[in-house]
Amino acid sequence: MTSDRWDVIVVGGGPAGGMAAWTAARVGLRTVLLEEHGEIGLPAHCSGKLSVHAFREFALPTSLARTSLRAATLYAPDGSAATVRRREIDSHVVDRDVFDRWLAEQAQAAGAELILGARARRGTRENGLIAVEADRRGQTLTVRAAVVIDAEGARTLLPETLGLPQRRVLIQGLQYEMDGLRLDAADTPELYFGREWAPGFFAWIMPLGPDSGRVGLCVDPRVTHRPPVYFLERLIAEHPVTSRRVRGARIVRKLVGRIPILGRRPSSYAPGLLVAGDAAGHVKATSGGGIYFSLVAGRLAAEAAGAILGGDAAALPRYEQAWRRRFGRELVFTTALRRTLNALPDPDLSRLIRSLAQNPPLRRTIEEHGDTQYQSRMLRPLLGQALHSWREIALAPPVLRAFVRGLFGIDQEPLPPGLEAEPRTIEVRAETSTHQS
Ligand SMILES: Cc1cc2nc3c(=O)[nH]c(=O)nc-3n(C[C@H](O)[C@H](O)[C@H](O)COP(=O)(O)OP(=O)(O)OC[C@H]3O[C@@H](n4cnc5c(N)ncnc54)[C@H](O)[C@@H]3O)c2cc1C
Repeated sequence: MTSDRWDVIVVGGGPAGGMAAWTAARVGLRTVLLEEHGEIGLPAHCSGKLSVHAFREFALPTSLARTSLRAATLYAPDGSAATVRRREIDSHVVDRDVFDRWLAEQAQAAGAELILGARARRGTRENGLIAVEADRRGQTLTVRAAVVIDAEGARTLLPETLGLPQRRVLIQGLQYEMDGLRLDAADTPELYFGREWAPGFFAWIMPLGPDSGRVGLCVDPRVTHRPPVYFLERLIAEHPVTSRRVRGARIVRKLVGRIPILGRRPSSYAPGLLVAGDAAGHVKATSGGGIYFSLVAGRLAAEAAGAILGGDAAALPRYEQAWRRRFGRELVFTTALRRTLNALPDPDLSRLIRSLAQNPPLRRTIEEHGDTQYQSRMLRPLLGQALHSWREIALAPPVLRAFVRGLFGIDQEPLPPGLEAEPRTIEVRAETSTHQS
């Protein structure tokens, strides 16, 4: 029998919510975790790249990893390519359904109660508590607690009803998980840039093994009305590299999701409420990566909840200070970089990637100092290295121009003719289709 009175209510069973519930339960708080779906982790939406920092910090078992990544190849709009390869492993790739389930199991083992199929839709304040109403099997389930941790992901319902609206740009993602891919290396994701392939973001192949991976992209709906499926089908059929990789490959499943980037980041707390993970915009705007910061924020939110329940009201603003101290700089840096990249015309982006390919010392600098989780750490060594070469200095004016345009929000070049037109419906192919091109 589910009680209606808890110390902490956690809404959302993703990385932020799972980690929050686990942490809260571990310190003895009576914790309930509400998840709208009938199963944790499904439907999966994410590529699953997770930094080694997360594995170390949270002692995550490496058995959760499908493969490990050391390198990345960047394909420019003009087809030139640059590969950077680190000596040590940078990240592992997980299956998010398995990963999220593992987290929820840890939370349950620590004493948290998990309620599946419960979609929180409203919070109201009553006598120092928050009452959360959730739809469950056609009925209303009401649970109450002094602290609610909102970890609903990219699209939130609850904070708005408690006076904390979260507004930001949601880019739209689609991936085909495929078997039978013709990959060069299982430790090297490939990133494909260019407005005609993935306007407002980029496309990728995230390897899962020697011949399997997630082929996907995100598009920014502010620049194109066309759905991601239009661009993904086009990438697979026409991109000179991707089309070769997928020849004869089979779609195993499709993953759909949104990423909150490039918005104002309002406060992440209100009386009795802490917001964590995608719900609070804890995502790198360059790559869309948010699992690690969601885990960090989930843990910090649960620690703050414990302090609030102990009578420490200052724990609310301290939560925001704590996550900003941990990764606020990365959010600011990657937002500036994303705006700059979006404002950079394709020919300049191609020059940038070409110059990386042709400049071994520059590549070595990235290989030594690069860390996909903490991208801002690369800025100083990279600038230092770039200043040694006339070719890189020649790139400074267009990059600075793009940076300034990005600052003023003029961060999107017009699309090539035809791509901005009204959408044409494209059938999503059957789950087991084979790609021949
Ligand atoms: C295409 C794509 C690829 C990505 N690839 C990567 C990657 O490789 N690496 C990386 O680090 N990040 C990646 N991300 C981002 C990453 O998925 C998110 O940053 C991460 O999932 C955020 O975790 P979260 O717990 O905040 O939210 P979510 O994982 O979205 O979890 C939210 C949970 O809350 C539940 N929920 C929502 N609303 C309610 C409600 N009202 N009541 C009850 N339950 C609710 C949802 O069902 C869900 O289970 C990707 C995202 C997309 C879309």
